[in-house]
Amino acid sequence: MRKSNVPRSRFLKVKCVDCGNEQVMFGSAKTVVKCVICSKTLAEPTGGKAKVTTKIVSVLE
Ligand SMILES: [Zn+2]
Repeated sequence: MRKSNVPRSRFLKVKCVDCGNEQVMFGSAKTVVKCVICSKTLAEPTGGKAKVTTKIVSVLE
């Protein structure tokens, strides 16, 4: 079983690499998370936990 460095049930603060917007998302998002400013995809659901496709700024516990 592969481990991911993305926590399963925490909130993540992510930064959009395109426009620099920072926003908070759920670490196990079940839907595609998009930047609220430019609509770039920030994370995709992968059956349990989100695959973050942008920069993670911090993990909020
Ligand atoms: Zn953006």
